[in-house]
Formats: sequence, structure tokens, C-alpha cells
Amino acid sequence: MAFPLWRTTDAPAIDRRSFLTGAAALGAAVVLTGPSGRAAAHARRATAVSRQVGSLEVVALLDAHGPFTLTRDRFAAFPEADDRDWAAAERIDPGAFGDHGAWILDFRCFVVRRPDGRTLLVDTGIGPAGSPARWAPLPGRLPDALAEAGIAPADIDTVILTHLHEDHFGWSVDAHGIPTFPNASYVLQQAEVTDATGGPVDDFVLGPLRRTGQLRTIDGQAALATTPGGDTVIAIPTPGHTIGHQSVLVEGRHDRIVITGDVLVHAVQLADPDVGYVFEADEEVARTTRHQLLAAAHPGHSHGRPALLATSHLTRPFVPVH
Ligand SMILES: [Zn+2]
Repeated sequence: MAFPLWRTTDAPAIDRRSFLTGAAALGAAVVLTGPSGRAAAHARRATAVSRQVGSLEVVALLDAHGPFTLTRDRFAAFPEADDRDWAAAERIDPGAFGDHGAWILDFRCFVVRRPDGRTLLVDTGIGPAGSPARWAPLPGRLPDALAEAGIAPADIDTVILTHLHEDHFGWSVDAHGIPTFPNASYVLQQAEVTDATGGPVDDFVLGPLRRTGQLRTIDGQAALATTPGGDTVIAIPTPGHTIGHQSVLVEGRHDRIVITGDVLVHAVQLADPDVGYVFEADEEVARTTRHQLLAAAHPGHSHGRPALLATSHLTRPFVPVH
């Protein structure tokens, strides 16, 4: 059960060159669903991809795709990145590079499907038209993406919210404050809930979840699911982007996937984990967390098992760490 995520004293340094080579070689995604008959570009973006971790299936679901609008360009979002960082980032994630410095990004959720058909959902995207994420390309399409993957809202028994930014909790409740996933506990770190209590997020999402008894807080690392074969889903605190940010480790005997949340939001933070993002709550803590997470994801840290990063905002859902 114990995952040596924070046993970092003997963690190997990230081999940036081999990492980039691996990232460039990415592309063997498994296509689960084909075009749904809508506009071709939209359908292409809607295609779900999945990876297997033991008996657990991790499915990436695209809620939305578009340009970042909170800063004038990508350089303003990551002011510490230099030309080498940007060049390396473009090799990892060329789809993120728009014209005139634009940052193009995905807004992605993940589900972890267990052999018994029960399903965990990690993050709920930007939400429908009228959601608080007004800077994002509303509306999202998570409900359609779930349906295309054969998942009904009632199948989901756990919703893990990595943090309480509006592009991650958008489909949690509907416009009437009714939780979208009727059978799910919504899992947050206590520190995140404490930080948001009394603010607008409290009204929008925490209040409704408290009223229906669906809010579950955890404090630190917690196992959320274990299969008979020993494959596990574990929430791990990864603070910095927000005070109580968490990530999700999906761990099998031979494979691991780390669903990062916003520990990194752009490939430039893989190219150089020291590069901060202007909207991090605590840039220094975020930097430390990023280094620790990437070191822990390194195969040398866990008996050579490869790890994939499953990211919210890169334009490819799974990125290997070598
Ligand atoms: Zn985000």
C-alpha cells in the first residue's frame, strides 16, 4: 500500500534528454471511440484514449480545448522560462504552441475503471455554459465524453477533485445545486476545503455537496480503491498550485500512472520543473512538489517500473517519464 512518493532523498535526477526522447516517441494511444458524427474537428478532439494499469483502466476524457485567455500570451504565464525551455517544451507538446505566443491547452478529466465496473472520476472539467470558468472555452462536453466511453453518471462512486479551481470542478453540480454524480463521494483534501470555505466556491460546489452528504475530506495520502489483485488508486497531497492540491496515483504491479492535476500545467514545466506558473498559490511549494512528483514518477524510484503522467492541460493526455 505504501508508495514511496516522498522518499526523495535517493531519488535519481530526471534525465532530461532521455525524457524528451521518450516524449517524442509517444503516440501508441488506444482509440476507444470513433467520431460521433459531429463536426470532424470536434469529433477528433472528443476521441477518448486509455491505458491499462494492471486490472485498472485509465481513460482520458476531453472536456474542452482552446487558447488560454488569462494572460496575454504563454510568456506572461511562465515568465521564468527561457528559449531552451520553450524549445524543449515544443518537442514534448507541439500542440500547445499557437500563433503569436498563444498557449493552446486541453481541459481534461480522467476516469479509473475497476474490473467490477465501478468507476472513479478525477476532476469534473470546466462545466456547462454559465459555469464559473468564464475564461475557458465553455461549454465543456464531459457528459458526452463519459457517454461515449460507456460510463453513466450513476456508475461513478468516487469523484476526486484535485483542487477547487473552476476549470476542475465545473460539472460537479448542476445549475440547481444537484450533484451530477448521485452515487459518488466527492473527495478533497481538508486543506483545500478549509481554504475555500466562506468563498464563492463554497456556495457553488461545497455547500451542495455538504447538503447531500457527498463531501468527503481526507488529510494526506489515502487509498481510495484496491482491486482483489492489489492494484490501487491513491490520493496524494501535492500542494503549491493551491494550498490543498492533490494528485492521484494509479499503481499496479508493473505499471504506474500519476494523474497530476495542475502540479504542471504546461510542458515547459516538464522541460524545466523550476519554471513557475503565475497563478500558483505558493510558487516555491509548487516547485518543490513538482520536483518531488517527477522524481517519484521516475522508474528508478520504483524498481524500474515505468510511469506515465496523466495531465489536465497538455494537449496529449499521457506523457512518459524515463
Ligand atoms: Zn487547471
